[in-house]
Amino acid sequence: MSVKVPRGTQDILPGQSEKWQYIESIAKDVCRRYHYKEIRTPIFEHTELFTRSVGDTTDIVQKEMYTFEDRGERSLTLRPEGTAAVVRSFVENKMFGIPDQPTKLFYTGPMFRYERPQSGRYRQFVQFGVEAIGSEDPAIDAEVIALIMDIYKSAGLKKLNLVINSLGDAESRNAHREALIAHFEPRIDEFCTDCQTRLAKNPLRILDCKKDRDHELMATAPSILDYLNDESKAYFAKVTSYLDAIGIAYTIDPKLVRGLDYYNHTAFEVMSEAEGFGAITTLCGGGRYNGLVQDLGGPESPGIGFAFSIERFIAAMEAERIEWPVDNGLDCFIVALGIEAKDHSVALVHELRTAGFSADRDYQDRKMKAQLKASDRQKARFTAILGEDELAENRITVKDMAEGSQDNVLLSELTDYLKTKMEAK
Ligand code: AMP
Repeated sequence: MSVKVPRGTQDILPGQSEKWQYIESIAKDVCRRYHYKEIRTPIFEHTELFTRSVGDTTDIVQKEMYTFEDRGERSLTLRPEGTAAVVRSFVENKMFGIPDQPTKLFYTGPMFRYERPQSGRYRQFVQFGVEAIGSEDPAIDAEVIALIMDIYKSAGLKKLNLVINSLGDAESRNAHREALIAHFEPRIDEFCTDCQTRLAKNPLRILDCKKDRDHELMATAPSILDYLNDESKAYFAKVTSYLDAIGIAYTIDPKLVRGLDYYNHTAFEVMSEAEGFGAITTLCGGGRYNGLVQDLGGPESPGIGFAFSIERFIAAMEAERIEWPVDNGLDCFIVALGIEAKDHSVALVHELRTAGFSADRDYQDRKMKAQLKASDRQKARFTAILGEDELAENRITVKDMAEGSQDNVLLSELTDYLKTKMEAK
C-alpha cells in the first residue's frame, strides 16, 4: 500500500501554490506599508511556552498540541499558534530595549493542532500574523485592525464582517468572572465536563464552548460590556472612534471572547459572509494581550496582534469568486528539431533565462507537433522554433501565440526581439 498524506494535512500543488504565494505577497506588501517587519521563529518550542501563555485550560493546550520528547528528553511542541513564540523572542532578544516602540512584527508559517479535520480546519495550516508589542495606545489597536482589513481589501474580498469586543482590563475581567460563576454555578452539572473545569479556572471560556453553545444559560450570560470599568470603557470607545475615523465598519459582539487565555481589552474576528462559505466562517482572530510579555519573563510591554490562515483566505476568495491574478504562462518555449538544434537550444534557453524571461524546452525528444502542443499547454506567449536549416543561417522562427503572427529573427537578436515584443504588449 502506498503512503498517503497524514490526516488533516494537504499537499499544495502547482496551480494552487501560486494562490498561496499571491496571498502571502499581498499580506507582506500591506505589512511593508504599515511598517511591520518579518520575524521567523522555530517551528517547535519548549512545551512550557504554550502551557504558560496560551493557557492550560484551553482546548489547544489540553487536546490539540503535537507534543513530543526529543532525544535529549526535552518536552517540545510543534507550535499551535504564533503569538507565544513571537513574545518569547521579543523577551529573549530584549526587543523591549529598542527605543522606538511598539515593535511591529509579522510572521508566516505552518501551525499544528490536533483538531478534528473538516472543511476549513486542518491539522497543519499556515497562519499569517502580526504583533505590535510595546504600546498601549488604542491607535495601535485601530492600526492592527486596519492592517488586516487592508489585506482582505487588497485581495478583493468584500463580504466580510469585522466583529469586535472588549474583554476589559484585569479588574473588569475579574468582576465579570465573578458574575459568570454566579450565573453558571447553580446549573453547571448540565454542562460538559470541560465547562465544569472551566468554571473554576476560566469561566469566560464557557462562552466559547462548542458543545454547550445552545444551552439556555448561554444566551442570558452576563455581558462583559456591563462589567467594564471606566478606564476599559474609555479605551474601547477610543478604539472604536479611531475605527470610525478611518472608515472601518464593525459590529460589536459582547459574546466574542476568543479561545486563548492571554487576551484583554480589544478582541476581534473577521468573518466571511460569502454565500457557500463553509460552516466555519472565521477568517481571522486577534486581540490585545497586555500581560503576556510579563508572564513570559519580560518587562511590562502591552501587545496586540492577529492571525489568519491562508487556507481560509483562499476559501473566502473562492466563495466570493474572485479571479486569481496569477499568471502561470511561460514567456518562451523553444521547439528544437534535430540533434544540432537540440544541442544549441541548451545554451539558448539558458540565455533567455539569464535575460530574465521564463523559458523552457523539450526534454522528451518529441516530434515537432508534440513540442508545439507542449508549448500550448505551457501557455507560452512565444514559441521559438529552431530547425536545422535555420540554425545553419543563425536564425530562429518566433511565433506570437496570441496574435498568430511570426517572424524570422537572428539568433543573436532573439532576446532583444522578445524584449521589444513583450514591452509592446
Ligand atoms: P486562532 O489562533 O485559533 O485564533 O486562529 C486564528 C485564525 O487561524 C482563524 O481565524 C483561522 O483563520 C485560522 N485557523 C485556526 N485554526 C485553523 C485550522 N485548524 N485550520 C485552518 N485554519 C485555522
